[in-house]
Amino acid sequence: MRRWPNNTVLVKIDAGIPQDKRHHIYTVMDSINALSCLKMVNASEGDSGYHILVNTFKPGCWSMVGHTGSDKGWQSLNMGPTCFSNGNRVIHHELLHALGFFHMQSRHDRDKFVKVYKDRVVPQNWEANFKKKGEDEGTVLWLGLPYDYNSIMHYSTNAFSLNGKITVEVLGKFSGEIGITRVPSRGDVAGLNRLYECWDHYLGDDIPGATPYKQIHQKYFKEN
Ligand SMILES: [Zn+2]
Repeated sequence: MRRWPNNTVLVKIDAGIPQDKRHHIYTVMDSINALSCLKMVNASEGDSGYHILVNTFKPGCWSMVGHTGSDKGWQSLNMGPTCFSNGNRVIHHELLHALGFFHMQSRHDRDKFVKVYKDRVVPQNWEANFKKKGEDEGTVLWLGLPYDYNSIMHYSTNAFSLNGKITVEVLGKFSGEIGITRVPSRGDVAGLNRLYECWDHYLGDDIPGATPYKQIHQKYFKEN
């Protein structure tokens, strides 16, 4: 579990991010602060300390998962030019990675909810984006929350397709469209608050199929 210490996350924006895009990032940080007990802080020049660097150094939209504590004193959140085209979807999505969340379709129990067509996925994208995460890996077992088609961490039906054919097919009753939402779902918000022990915020105990947070907390967060 790679949580940010003291629920505090310093974010710096590299000069390569266009001026007119910056306020979108600040808006999403403010929104996360309002929904949780996290403190996402805009690290101006003077602020020192380990931070997320939002940058355009490499192609694509991606982030390290959780607080990695890299020796260089910062970790990367890459936002290429196309990453600002879907409202604030991608900013939310990448910041949730940086806060510790994997893709919804990487859950160990995903086969009950979606069919993933491995042979249609661009091979370089398989491991990081579709491979199932073991029960003991990463964010403690999805924190007792059920599979969530509405998650902002869910991919769309033809994500990373080699040939245009669908890569992620919904099984079961969900009638919406996966992978398009621009705001975190209530499950996403609950996950964030469960991971960071935000007792005064929404914890998702009313979500059908959720394990009460108290039990999850007892199991994963209590020292003794
Ligand atoms: Zn992602």
